[in-house]
Amino acid sequence: MKIGIDAGHGKDGDPGAIGPCGTKEADITQALALQLGNFILALGQEAFLCDRSLYASERAVQASKEGCEILLSLHCNAGGSQAQGIEAWFAHGNEEGKRLASSILGILISETGAVSRGVKDDADWRPASDPKWTGGMGVLRYFSGPAVLLEFLFISNPVEEKLLASPDFQQKCAHAIALGTLDFINSWRKGSGENGGSRSGSAEGDSGEGKDCSGGSPDSGNSPSSPYPDLFPDLSPPLWEGKARKMVLTLHDRGIVTGYEDGTFRPDQPLTRLEAASLIYRALISLGKLPPLE
Ligand SMILES: [Zn+2]
Repeated sequence: MKIGIDAGHGKDGDPGAIGPCGTKEADITQALALQLGNFILALGQEAFLCDRSLYASERAVQASKEGCEILLSLHCNAGGSQAQGIEAWFAHGNEEGKRLASSILGILISETGAVSRGVKDDADWRPASDPKWTGGMGVLRYFSGPAVLLEFLFISNPVEEKLLASPDFQQKCAHAIALGTLDFINSWRKGSGENGGSRSGSAEGDSGEGKDCSGGSPDSGNSPSSPYPDLFPDLSPPLWEGKARKMVLTLHDRGIVTGYEDGTFRPDQPLTRLEAASLIYRALISLGKLPPLE
């Protein structure tokens, strides 16, 4: 079975979160992804590393197109200097994704001794810029099968930052993820005939994680086997020679703008005064000039 691996962040030099000692999330996720790829190959499966020049949601679409049946997205958490632990997110309504998350998290916790923050439904995820967001994580919603987004420890906690940067710890994590994935594959095959699964229940939507957010709804009712070919197709060339799409996707990845539930942006829709204020507010949050609304 082919397994997609998304080393979170890295697009256009996006470092992701940065720890107090300067460790970059994007460097950790890359190191983890490479080790994970090796373990997956060693366990007799195929591994596909997503192209880091793509946006989060596009990486999910790419993995689907490449024939991946499972997607693992790797990130580090950020928050307070005391926050700790590992959490595993699945797309709302994707029961296989939930089982995959639980299988991986269980082995990760027993192998590393880290604190478990649990398996989480992405319908409960909110980007810092949008406390009312209900569209989940794009990297999970745009994938056509079971997908999990792992938040490894808190890079903002100096103790956990040091662990994350340790090659030994990275190796332990990569090994545990590979074993958890294999366990899931074995039970999945048993449950659905020989070749890999019923692939049910992946809601489409949008967004990424932390900074890679945006617009879809868990209930938008798209077929799991047909993820949106691209986010915001209505912004494709000739509109501004394609620059419009690039601009909006960049803002989208930073959590400043969101799209509609069907994956469109609808560039000609008017903006209300309240929406304009919200947009300005989110941009200022992104610049660190204002705190997120409680
Ligand atoms: Zn991240």
